[in-house]
Amino acid sequence: MEHPENDPRYRGLTVNKGVARPPSVNPYLKKRDRSKLRSVKEYVEGILSGDRVLLSQAVTLVESSLPEHQETAQTIIEQCLPHAGNSIRVGITGVPGAGKSTSIDAFGMHLLEKGHKLAVLAIDPSSERSRGSILGDKTRMEKLSVAENAFIRPSPSAGSLGGVARKTRETIVLCEAAGFDSIFVETVGVGQSETAVHSMVDFFLLIQLSGTGDELQGIKRGIMEMADGIVINKADGDNIDKANMARRQLRNALHLYPLQESGWVPEVLTYSGYYKIGIDEVWEMIHRYIDFVKENGYFDRKRKEQAKYWMFESINEQLRNGFYRDPEIAALLAQLEQEVLHDRKSSFTAAREALEKYYGRRR
Ligand code: GDP
Repeated sequence: MEHPENDPRYRGLTVNKGVARPPSVNPYLKKRDRSKLRSVKEYVEGILSGDRVLLSQAVTLVESSLPEHQETAQTIIEQCLPHAGNSIRVGITGVPGAGKSTSIDAFGMHLLEKGHKLAVLAIDPSSERSRGSILGDKTRMEKLSVAENAFIRPSPSAGSLGGVARKTRETIVLCEAAGFDSIFVETVGVGQSETAVHSMVDFFLLIQLSGTGDELQGIKRGIMEMADGIVINKADGDNIDKANMARRQLRNALHLYPLQESGWVPEVLTYSGYYKIGIDEVWEMIHRYIDFVKENGYFDRKRKEQAKYWMFESINEQLRNGFYRDPEIAALLAQLEQEVLHDRKSSFTAAREALEKYYGRRR
């Protein structure tokens, strides 16, 4: 007998019929894994049908630095491009505390009520250091974050400003292909990221505060010059008079600036994002601008210029990445760095040696 212990006369312990041992890995995990790596066709069809999950996953591929993800992302973007471009892109900047998130929530809800679909993206140069961006964070936009027709995505967080900006630029393409007809790109009005945002939007909106007047609140002069519209937030309660005064000052200051290439004279308005006063007027201004530049041809010209700009930006980024990520070059650079530090070689000779090595190998 195979199991003598199962004999009724047996007095010891009995052996039960065993069950198949369950797998040590949850089989559902595998399923989830597979869904992560869909085909380009699935992503593109999903995006074009407005599927947010697939849109989000495609954006994650755009943001990834893995070469195979990048390759898939580029193919998706290429196939989405013919369906992109049909939106109004607005850059929004202002120092921390100016009320960007409150305002984006208010402006955004205003657009959704009119039947638009809105994507809120961000470029935050500080996110690299702080590991994770605050800009574009859903929790800052209470109403939009739960609205059906809004898609909020924080700033990509890895890489150089150029790299981060390029990813946001590509995300715009995907969002437009997914049917979002309004795009906001948010940034902090203190650094170089404004130039990057300016080069991917149709209208650049600067949010200012009234009252302080301290050298335009740390906003660099170049940013003022880029603005197509300046809006003074928090024009509510006791602050209304101060806001109006700031508006007059800013209007006067703008007279000193040369006329913009678009031929548009930037407007200055006051509003309250919190109490939703003057939101309509801000939006009417943006539409006035869009009509004006579509009429005089600047709208298309600028978009073409921007496309050219991003071609060169992408080339620059890839050249830089190719060079600095090359292990042989990295080793050589470490050595050259020491030689420069110890005055054994000039900076220029060292640079030429590294570049010659890199390009020499490729000939
Ligand atoms: P951000 O850092 O530029 O995104 O600014 P927030 O939107 O977080 O706003 C900073 C602070 O200003 C918050 O405490 C807001 O409640 C307040 N705030 C924003 N907009 C207004 C407004 O229109 N009126 C008033 N009184 N306060 C506002």
